[in-house]
Amino acid sequence: MLNLKVEELQNQATPFYAYDLTVLHQTLEAARHEAGKYNFHVHYALKANANAPVLDAMRSAGFGADCVSGNEVKRAIENGFPAHHVVFAGVGKSDAEINYALEQDIFCFNCESSHELEVLNELASAQNKTARIALRINPNVNANTHKYITTGLEENKFGINAWELESVLELLQKLPAIQLIGIHFHIGSQITDLSVFSNLCTRVNEFQDWFEARKIVLEHINVGGGLGVDYYNPDQNLVPDFAAYFGLFNQFLKLRPGQQVHFELGRALVAQCGTLVSKVLYIKKGISTNFAILDAGMTELIRPALYQSYHKIENLSSNLPEERYDVVGPICESSDCFGKALMLPETNRGDLIAIRTAGAYGEVMASGYNLREKAEVIYY
Ligand SMILES: *Cc1c(COP(=O)(O)O)cnc(C)c1O
Repeated sequence: MLNLKVEELQNQATPFYAYDLTVLHQTLEAARHEAGKYNFHVHYALKANANAPVLDAMRSAGFGADCVSGNEVKRAIENGFPAHHVVFAGVGKSDAEINYALEQDIFCFNCESSHELEVLNELASAQNKTARIALRINPNVNANTHKYITTGLEENKFGINAWELESVLELLQKLPAIQLIGIHFHIGSQITDLSVFSNLCTRVNEFQDWFEARKIVLEHINVGGGLGVDYYNPDQNLVPDFAAYFGLFNQFLKLRPGQQVHFELGRALVAQCGTLVSKVLYIKKGISTNFAILDAGMTELIRPALYQSYHKIENLSSNLPEERYDVVGPICESSDCFGKALMLPETNRGDLIAIRTAGAYGEVMASGYNLREKAEVIYY
């Protein structure tokens, strides 16, 4: 059950994000323990949640940082992540972002196109530096997840396609300020079917053979993130099955002597520790359902509107007999709806509503649409 004490929250302004630091620490400890069995390196994907207490916990667990913007690199460095534990991906790194990351001497740029390699070479030369890079390869593996969070198909904008690799290697010969240290993959997010990751391992093994045939030694293999969480039964599955996840990579990846394996987990580490708490403003009778109108909307948590994603919704204030509700926000968009035809205890104005599993891609995606204020945050 959610560990929040409703009585203590009566004076807390709503809506607010509440983060359970005990759940966060349990999750990180499990991930650290299971990855540690195989000496796997975990980099936390900051884009899931970049709050200071979350980053402190990640750093204390010994994780590195996976960044997709210059400001994320900056946030990681300022929080105390050592630069040699920072990786930087993204299809559209700006010159300013690249220059900043070069100045900081980060561990690795995950490069997504030939054009980016040329620009990186130029900028690194100008700073008299060598940029360590991994080629982000698009392995054409289907992640079996929502199409907006699928990134590893040839039709997606991410990564370098297999048929371009030969010409990328030729190009690298001409780029003296770039040092190839590995290959990188990230095929999507909220992946719950683990066979997707064994398909990824098969592709990684094929790419490894391809590079070996060309006498290229890769020191680092980065398999990205994407491990999903249970949005339907958060209490039963607060901590993802890291044993199965890391064990699978250990079983299926064919590593060369001395190779280091890297992961970039975001959602799996932070989703379950976060809850969006909102107050019911109004109840409105519909035809076959009632509307429970909350003071939180898509401006606080956009995932349902953006990816049609499910979040478990609980009424923390009522244990009356159940009725049917569409739970909606106040924003002027019909997609501003957290759940349709849900059975909830009879709900009234002033009740506190918990929207669970909101620790990842929640607060970080908040917007000021309708000139909304930023939600408050508590840690417990
Ligand atoms: C978003 C992202 C991740 C993290 O994905 P999760 O599904 O949250 O684990 C990892 N690597 C890259 C390159 C990403 O863009």
